[in-house]
Amino acid sequence: MLRDTSKRTSRVRPERHQVLHGDATVAAPPSRHTEHKTFDEKTGLIRTHRIDEDAGITVEGGGRQVYGNKFLSTAVRLDSTPHSRVILALESIRHKSPQEDPDRAAEGVALVAMVKRILKRAPGLKAVTYDAALRGTHRAPLIAKGLVVFTPQHSGLAPQSLLRHKDGPCSHDLYVAEARVCERHITVDGKTHYTPLPVQELEYREGQSSARFYHRISIDCPIKTHTLRIRVDETEEDRQMDPKTRKKRFNRTEHLRQVPPDTPAGRRLKGFRQDSESLHSRFDQSYPHKRVPAYGARGALLIYLGYAWLNNSITRALNHITRS
Ligand SMILES: [Zn+2]
Repeated sequence: MLRDTSKRTSRVRPERHQVLHGDATVAAPPSRHTEHKTFDEKTGLIRTHRIDEDAGITVEGGGRQVYGNKFLSTAVRLDSTPHSRVILALESIRHKSPQEDPDRAAEGVALVAMVKRILKRAPGLKAVTYDAALRGTHRAPLIAKGLVVFTPQHSGLAPQSLLRHKDGPCSHDLYVAEARVCERHITVDGKTHYTPLPVQELEYREGQSSARFYHRISIDCPIKTHTLRIRVDETEEDRQMDPKTRKKRFNRTEHLRQVPPDTPAGRRLKGFRQDSESLHSRFDQSYPHKRVPAYGARGALLIYLGYAWLNNSITRALNHITRS
């Protein structure tokens, strides 16, 4: 796993075992209580409880509130092979404000550091698939390392003006919408319409300090077919501050995606992430009442490491991985 094979694959369709999948989960502590003392108004009974000092309330994707400690995990597995999952890294991450928890990193930052660590030891890693918690600002440093980073696109991003392509009598207004390059048209009833332009290829270049990715796109127009290369990694100009808005000029990796989500290659990579849900669900089910039998984030992490050890041992014992 995580090694180059002789099989020829495109960057948008890496082999299953070259793709890292990850997710964060909130593990329930042994006690659901959040107050040391509770008072029963009916009986007047005062009871004391042990509480998990590290646990907190986190809002999951979908708006559901969960109480516990938050963990991040990344894993890899083989294609169509049961019991082939290897958990590569686990970390306890911050789910409170930086003031309350200055020592741990939040989800996105922690994932970037984790993936960089893994990539150093496993240069065959080609892609990472994650959920919408990973934003453009987190994707940019991983893309610069030469990885394809796939996540679903955040909804509600306004189309961004990219450039005007001029060629002879032609002028084409290019925008970034729906995570890809589109041509803007004004329809007869005066409405704006964005037509996605076909991506011929995701090109990769080894840059001086970081990797570069381009979409080779074509504009099919009556005059001629124009071919353009558009950077999909963060450029030096993107990073410069706009004096008017005091923000980065263009948050390219937020808007423009190496693999647009609503494409066959995107759906394939999205499907790979499901294994993380399965991993965390199996972890929850491994303990009575789906509660981690340890108080505190460190204790819970130790339990989680034990679970990962067992998971990886099963993978190894069933010998799907041949060592060479
Ligand atoms: Zn044209």
